[in-house]
Amino acid sequence: MIILIKSSIEFFKNLPAKKCAECGKKIEEQHECYGNKCDHCLQS
Ligand SMILES: [Zn+2]
Repeated sequence: MIILIKSSIEFFKNLPAKKCAECGKKIEEQHECYGNKCDHCLQS
């Protein structure tokens, strides 16, 4: 069980940074619920 927990943590740490589908800017982790656009493009 300890190995499973550790590997799942590693999985999330190794996820590539999300990028905005509009401008290619890196999306902050806390905004992942917004989908695939950054704040700037969402507001436009
Ligand atoms: Zn953008």
